[in-house]
Formats: sequence, C-alpha cells, structure tokens
Amino acid sequence: MENLNVDKAFLSEEVMPDSKGFFGEYGGSFLPPILIPIIQEITDAYLKIKDDPVFKEELFYLQKHYTGRPSPIFHAKNLSQKQGGAQIYLKREDLNHTGAHKINHCLGEALLAKRMGKKKLIAETGAGQHGVALATAAALVGLECDIYMGEVDIQKEHPNVVRMKILGAKVIAVTHGLKTLKEAVDAAFEAYMKDPVTQLYAIGSVVGPHPFPMMVRDFQSVIGREAREQMQEMTGKHPDNLVACVGGGSNALGLFSAFLQDQNVNIFGVEPAGTSFKTGDHSATLTLGKPGMIHGFKCYLLQDENGEPAPVNTVASGLDYPGVGPQHSYLKDIKRVQYETITDKEAIDAFMLLAREEGIIPALESAHAVAYALKLAEQLPADQTILVNLSGRGDKDIDYVVERFGEQFGISE
Ligand SMILES: *Cc1c(COP(=O)(O)O)cnc(C)c1O
Repeated sequence: MENLNVDKAFLSEEVMPDSKGFFGEYGGSFLPPILIPIIQEITDAYLKIKDDPVFKEELFYLQKHYTGRPSPIFHAKNLSQKQGGAQIYLKREDLNHTGAHKINHCLGEALLAKRMGKKKLIAETGAGQHGVALATAAALVGLECDIYMGEVDIQKEHPNVVRMKILGAKVIAVTHGLKTLKEAVDAAFEAYMKDPVTQLYAIGSVVGPHPFPMMVRDFQSVIGREAREQMQEMTGKHPDNLVACVGGGSNALGLFSAFLQDQNVNIFGVEPAGTSFKTGDHSATLTLGKPGMIHGFKCYLLQDENGEPAPVNTVASGLDYPGVGPQHSYLKDIKRVQYETITDKEAIDAFMLLAREEGIIPALESAHAVAYALKLAEQLPADQTILVNLSGRGDKDIDYVVERFGEQFGISE
C-alpha cells in the first residue's frame, strides 16, 4: 500500500466552531423545523467519518491521483521583479483537475453523500466552477447531480454549462431576481427542502448552516497544510504574508487555516469592489456589510434598507454573494485577518499582467488576490514573501475579458 499519510490529521487542529456551529456570534444553524434533524444527520455523519482511516485513505488517494495534489507553489519572479518589493509566490490551485480549488471540497462532499446512502447531489453555482467540480465528483463517485444556476451566469459562463451537461449533470436555470448566485442558492435550497432524504445539498463554499462552514473549510485545509511545508522547503521559513480572494471564503480559509496560529504571518482577504462602493455595484461584504442573516446562518451581510440581502456585482461571478463565511466574519472582528478590496479594473489589469509576465491566465476571482498582492509587494522589502492562493484558472473567463476589455490591451478578435 502506498504511503498516503493517512494518520496525519487531515483536519485543521482548529477548535472552532463550537458544538452549535458558532464562530463567536457568527454561524449557527437557523433552519425550518423539518430540516433540523436532516442537517443534524449530516453533522453526525461528518463528525464520524472525518477521523475514519478508511474515509481518509479514499479521500487522500483521490486528492493525489485524481486531483493531482499537492498543487505546486511557483515563485513568480518576473512579476515580483516588475513590481518591485516583496517576492510573490503562487499556490497553484488552478492546476487541479477541473481548474480550481473547488474539487477539494466536492470530492469530500461526494464521498460523504455516498457513505450516507444519498442518491443525488444538489447545489448552486455562480461562475459554474462549483457546478463543474461537483458534477465531476458525482460522475466519479456514481451519484446523480442537479445544479441550479442564475440565467445571467449561464450566459456569461457558457463553457462551464456545457461541461456540466457532458459530465451528466442537470443544469437548472434560475430566472427570478437578479438571476445570479443568491437566487441560485434560494432555488437549490427550495428543491432540497422537497426531498432532503435522498439528496445531499453540497454547499459550494464555507457558508450556509452548520456543519457546512466547518466541513468545507476542513476539506479545503489541505491547501494550507501543503503550503506550510512547501514554503519551508523553498524559502526556509513561513510566508510573511498570505493573500486570497474572498467570495464565500473557502479558498481563503483553505490557505489561512494552517497559519492562523502563527502571529508573525500577516493575512489578507480580498473582496471585490466592483465598479464603485454604491450599493449594487460591488460585493465587498466584510468591508461594507453589517451582521445579518442569510441562508440559515449569521454573518456580515450586504443589506438593503429593509435588511434584505442587497444586490451585488463584480466581474468575477464566483465572488458574487452578499453574505460571507461566518469564520471570516469572526476573523475580521478579532482582527486576525485584514480584509481589503480590489476593483474590477484592478482585477482585469492583474489578469493581463500575470498572463503576460508569467504565462499564467488566472480566474478573474483569483486576479483580485493577485492585484492586492501587487499593491502589497510595493510597500514591502525584497526579503519579504507574499503567498497568493491562485484559486483557479482563467479559461472560463477569456471570452468575456476579450469582449469587454480586449481593445485596451491591443487584442482584437
Ligand atoms: C468559486 C471561486 C472562488 C470564490 O469562492 P470562495 O469560496 O471564496 O473561495 C474563488 N476563485 C475561484 C477560481 C472560484 O471558482
């Protein structure tokens, strides 16, 4: 048997959340009564399998031989030199099978569903990345898969829609409201309520009611565990700074979890400032929101004047959510993580710069993290390091970018 380090804890050593799913005042589980026992069953099943050597072995095997882990870390020397200042390193989650970090938690959720005897995985998707990753995991593990997606995102992310269909998933268009991620979550939740026994709702980020913020974080925490060892090997020390984009916050917590205890590691989460800080023009939840409730949990929330979730907007569909993970809400309050914003324009510039300096086309979501790292690098000396979580690749975004912004970069179709 090959050595997959199964006895190494695959979960972060974190004590949070508490047994009711709270990170300080955030998180929890606020659900209609019929869902309470069903979600409790998921919590119980997860707590049981998470330390089960057979489950871990299955998951670790797939991470290595299916996803292609560990994902490498690349020292972006050209980019660092061009910008001046600190050295920028990239954790290459874009090289994972299916092109982003989402496969990490989808494999975990699919294996859990299979163990629980579920027949179908059901989920929402924004950019289509979670949908593709889940449809992939469902095909592999042998489960049906229904994906709810806003009509606006279906137009914008056409290749991912086709991918899901090829993988055997059903893509259900959501046509109400703004027709983006929030509405897709509403629709998927509704469908789940109709049959929570044979289906498992595989949430796509560290959001939703307990145990999802904990479970998705734990499945993503492999990113940070690998990065700790890799940076030690490459630079002889921990990274001085971590940067990741925050939509719901799963790729960020995947990286951050392994370093939260290291007070000398500065941690930055990057939110989309869109086109302006006017309501409806951005999706900067932690920066501009207030505590509130959405989709069964408490977190920072962008709200309209009635306390309802506000409309959001950004070039990066995967960051388009008015709420945010409860653990991020907590980390903001205790000031362990600093949350910053990047505009659409800055993200597009970083997208092009990374492509042209390093030959790496990042997802527009990840381009937000790159853009902030560039700003940070400038302010720091050359012996400092910045590790950016490159959460995904930009193949899904190329048509959109060239159509909207091609001209300014001298690209004609
Ligand atoms: C979905 C997605 C994100 C945002 O989700 P988080 O849960 O905040 O990580 C970021 N980057 C990529 C490439 C994505 O697909």
